[in-house]
Amino acid sequence: MLNKRKFKESVERNIRVNFLKTIKTASGQERYHAVVKTLMEEVVTHWQETNERHHNKKKACYFSAEFLMGRAFGNNLLNLGIYEEVKEVLNELEIDIDEVEKAEADAGLGNGGLGRLAACFLESCATMNLPVTGYGIRYHDGIFKQRFVDGFQVEEGDPWLAHGEPWSFRRSEDAVTVVFGDESVKAVPYDTPIIGYGNQTINTLRLWQGEPLINFDFNLFNEQRYDESVKEKNRAEDISRVLYPNDSKEEGKILRLKQQYFFVSASLQDLVKKYKETNGNEFEKFHQYHAIQLNDTHPVVAIPELMRILTDEEGLCWEKAWGITTKTFSYTNHTILTEALEKWDVKLYQKMLPRVYEIVKGIDEQFIEFLNEKSYEKKKIDQMKIISNGRINKAWLAIYGSHTINGVAEIHTNILKHKELKDWYELYPQKFQNKTNGITPRRWLALCNQELSALITALLNTEDWITDLSQLKKLEKHQYDDEVLKRFMAIKRTKKKQLAAYIFKKEGIQIDPNSIYNIQIKRLHEYKRQLLNAFHILDLYYELKENPDIQRTLRTFIFGAKAAPGYVRAKGIIKYINEVAKLVNNDPQMKDQMKVAFVENYNVSYGEKLFPAADLSEQISTVGKEASGTGNMKFMLNGSPTIGTNDGANIEIVQEAGEENNFIFGMKIEELQAMEDTYEPRAYYESVPGLKRVVDTLIDGTFDDGDTGMFQELYDSLLEGASWHKPDNYYLLKDFDDYREAQRKAEIAYADEIAWARKCWMNIANAGKFSSDRTITEYAKQIWHI
Ligand SMILES: *Cc1c(COP(=O)(O)O)cnc(C)c1O
Repeated sequence: MLNKRKFKESVERNIRVNFLKTIKTASGQERYHAVVKTLMEEVVTHWQETNERHHNKKKACYFSAEFLMGRAFGNNLLNLGIYEEVKEVLNELEIDIDEVEKAEADAGLGNGGLGRLAACFLESCATMNLPVTGYGIRYHDGIFKQRFVDGFQVEEGDPWLAHGEPWSFRRSEDAVTVVFGDESVKAVPYDTPIIGYGNQTINTLRLWQGEPLINFDFNLFNEQRYDESVKEKNRAEDISRVLYPNDSKEEGKILRLKQQYFFVSASLQDLVKKYKETNGNEFEKFHQYHAIQLNDTHPVVAIPELMRILTDEEGLCWEKAWGITTKTFSYTNHTILTEALEKWDVKLYQKMLPRVYEIVKGIDEQFIEFLNEKSYEKKKIDQMKIISNGRINKAWLAIYGSHTINGVAEIHTNILKHKELKDWYELYPQKFQNKTNGITPRRWLALCNQELSALITALLNTEDWITDLSQLKKLEKHQYDDEVLKRFMAIKRTKKKQLAAYIFKKEGIQIDPNSIYNIQIKRLHEYKRQLLNAFHILDLYYELKENPDIQRTLRTFIFGAKAAPGYVRAKGIIKYINEVAKLVNNDPQMKDQMKVAFVENYNVSYGEKLFPAADLSEQISTVGKEASGTGNMKFMLNGSPTIGTNDGANIEIVQEAGEENNFIFGMKIEELQAMEDTYEPRAYYESVPGLKRVVDTLIDGTFDDGDTGMFQELYDSLLEGASWHKPDNYYLLKDFDDYREAQRKAEIAYADEIAWARKCWMNIANAGKFSSDRTITEYAKQIWHI
């Protein structure tokens, strides 16, 4: 229970002592800061208690280069159980809670799904009262802000800390020194509370910031050599300056390698230091107190780094250290895209981290010896050894140095076992596990769709579903209750209207809540096939132009996606979709037929408005390429059927919710593998009705790419291929017709309102499996043993 009087006093006091103002005169930013400071007074007690409760217990550490947290304010109020009360108090103070929420910048310390997964996981761990700490980097700039200028993506910085960041504490006393070959930097941790839902557990996200050991060189300054005097400071601060804006592609940049070692070394030093304070030098038990999860290969340098600390600094022998290390680490694989499998350049590592490199070499030699003992053929050994062709294979190091490797959906884990990591699965079958991803139902339903949450709570007569999502199954019995379905449709309409208002305000595009909202929001990548979506829209456009009298259901196609700044083809696709949007939206004849809206700067907060308002969830990746997806789960939980391929977690979504309640099209993985080598995209281009017409708009002057050659290049990628891939590498032309058919089916199904609502409802009722609480329970029991 909130003490209202105390709360008000504290807000007023915080505004006074921090800003020398009153509530009336304070800005939105200042009010936000004062309210958060007030909340922190409540939080700190439980935070300390949780730390004490978890002290001297085994804990899990989630090492991740990305945490895509979004805003904390609403979620923290919800989880503290004081959302309504705080809203009331603020109201009494004449402060609008929405204004306070908006003042917070998104913590965009991640690119997409992988970083958002880390954020959902931390929230679930706290909600389940599990001792888990997140470790990462306090990037000064998060993922870039995206704008469109003449339909082209333009990137801007994201200085999310510019107005201060009231949730975190700087913990100077825990600062450590990270040593590189040619420099040393200070790593200073900032701790952010991760608040569990309704249980007073508050875990920690610890993010490291790079700082110089000495702030500036006084002598150089005195000699008026100003630039040089701050050189070391700049170099150190560069390490945590910016998140690399890339998704599913390796970045062989020195600074990125530095970032990885920086946060990993700082975190391990921190863990070892704390361990010694209670356990002294008895490192044999280190793994009994720590389970470290490596989120993808980004933090995999942790394996040789722990070896270095245990042998060089703590004096353990190699064998003992290796035993501890392999009992400590586990590794999550997130992708099979070859361009994403990171490799380190040996030369770079020798220069930057000479000692760590020697240890990697030692690990590799030990591994080769092990394979020799198993009588592996030389050819096999060459394929599996960790260092080869002047590069360190990070995935191999991760597998050898971990006790458990997991994929993130059934299909993905199977591809790992039987294809991508086949040799490794044969060597270590017992190491492989599946952990299908999940999302937190707090942010992705209870917070972002309060209307639907209230309906669910009313029907189930309890709020228990919020922490036990499998209870949604009990909603199935309402599937033939038209009253319930109508209430659901009314809520969907409310969310669609809210989104329409927001999109109009932000983008200046008017969309009609009576239309079908088709939404595809995710990073821009060829394998995710936003271009296929665009081709279908254009095909529909031409069909409507040719047959102006046919009555179709009004449709709105919504996109949200950032392209990595160096990914030229992805940027070409953005420009193309914006051109399609311009054509469609400026055609008066389309007014009552269709609309296209590509929203700028898709991020977590935008997602919270988009997912609840969707009628159709677009999940159309090339089969085998989307490891899991989590956006698909957010749509499902908010009651939108999926139009999608047999890929990633779509397969499990349909298993749960029923094929009849979704629109699945295209090949199964086996079918794709069977036709891979003989695929002729041109045959489809020539023969599928309407396909040539839309593909040719890339080159026939229908659209203008501002003389960049981007559209010609896209055309060539589909029909000619490029040095690094065969034509239509992602099977757009193959799947076009099936996709169009599925779209048609969805549109027809939508016309029967009650039948449609039932499909939506069945998706909600069967979304229980996709709670990250379920995923985390599996990690805790089967990998971390906490
Ligand atoms: C959930 C989420 C993602 C992941 O979406 P996918 O469709 O699974 O790729 C990416 N970005 C944001 C902001 C998200 O919330």
